[in-house]
Amino acid sequence: MNTEHMYNTVGISHEVYAFGEKILEGLRDRFDTIDRVSEYNQTKVIDAMQKNRVSAACFAATTGYGYDDVGRTTLEKVYADCFHTEAALVRPQITCGTHALTVALSANLLPGDELLSPVGRPYDTLEEVIGIRPSTCSLAEYGVSYRQVDLLDDGTFDWDGIRTAINEKTKLVTIQRSKGYQTRPSFSVAQIGELIAFVKSIKPSLICMVDNCYGEFVEEEEPSDVGADMIVGSLIKNPGGGLAPIGGYICGTEACVTRCAYRLSAPGLGQEVGANLGIMPAFYQGFFFAPTVVASALKGAIFAANIYERLGYHVIPTGSEDRHDIIQAVELGSREGMMAFCAGIQAAAPVDSYVRPEPWAMPGYDDEVIMAAGAFVQGSSIELSADGPIRPPYAVYFQGGLTWYHAKLGILMSLQKMLDAGLVDPSKLQ
Ligand SMILES: *Cc1c(COP(=O)(O)O)cnc(C)c1O
Repeated sequence: MNTEHMYNTVGISHEVYAFGEKILEGLRDRFDTIDRVSEYNQTKVIDAMQKNRVSAACFAATTGYGYDDVGRTTLEKVYADCFHTEAALVRPQITCGTHALTVALSANLLPGDELLSPVGRPYDTLEEVIGIRPSTCSLAEYGVSYRQVDLLDDGTFDWDGIRTAINEKTKLVTIQRSKGYQTRPSFSVAQIGELIAFVKSIKPSLICMVDNCYGEFVEEEEPSDVGADMIVGSLIKNPGGGLAPIGGYICGTEACVTRCAYRLSAPGLGQEVGANLGIMPAFYQGFFFAPTVVASALKGAIFAANIYERLGYHVIPTGSEDRHDIIQAVELGSREGMMAFCAGIQAAAPVDSYVRPEPWAMPGYDDEVIMAAGAFVQGSSIELSADGPIRPPYAVYFQGGLTWYHAKLGILMSLQKMLDAGLVDPSKLQ
């Protein structure tokens, strides 16, 4: 068996392969730790499925109104049990993460209320949802105001600023766990717990919502274990395990989730409607796979960080830091660097490997964005993908990998393309 030969066959040179193996030697302990967290979470998911008596009947399709949909109601109980919340809304009718967050915010904020982000600027697509960038149907248009407290220069919370920002109008606090398209650190569940305790000590009635995108199953605990009233995410990221073809979730208190269901469908109907159209097997099996898929993605992220750090690039998190999400930022310093990196990720894909990603003006984003993804589910970023807005510091955000070996191939291929484009000095691989 000659694994290197197989890598050569798909276009990885001896130098790049050998460099990768050298980097990997130093990562065995990190990988063991990731496997242990994954094992814990796998057992947690199975436990939630057993407790709720998941059976073949849960996989049946429903149509029309979807009344008495056993698959849908059981799945929502599985999510609620797994994330230790009173209730959950897990639906294919939630079209993406932004939609899930929009539902959670607009259901729980009324005219005259104020939304507070104590962690700086939110994810790009939320700017129009909130009305930071004016938009039709934004929260601002409905009379919900917004306040933001930026992180301090060292990436920590501005406790004094947060205390001052909370006022009689403040109703909901939004905390984004993952860095998104920024180069700030992502937050650990423990840090989020500290922040929630702090804001609730100032105003106990505050609703704390965590944008949990890319964070699920990275640690043994979720933000809902440390006081979050709602955690929100996308099923084409971590919890869908690569199998969910669409969807989003909101897990939290009964009061918050019921409002979300009324907002998503209609007042009075709430969670009682919403046919599953035959999608349930993918939702259940994807959730079952999610802890091991997240482990693969984490290994890929750490491998990428160590490869590019060794080559002298600024990477966030660093090669040795603890992980709180599956995102790895690599600052490539130029548009050409971003294009070569993304070309490599694309060339390593099982689907659409022959296309070359180009920057484009994507809806909901302010700058041009480049995206590399050869995914089974369109736009799925739990599958190996890389993207980023074309703006300084020209950081590419790398994430996903349904299997560790695919993530590894993608990273080696990105390096190969950087070398081929003359952007990396070959002597650095020695
Ligand atoms: C992906 C993401 C979103 C938005 O999700 P979409 O599914 O792309 O709409 C929101 N917040 C964070 C932190 C994300 O990573």
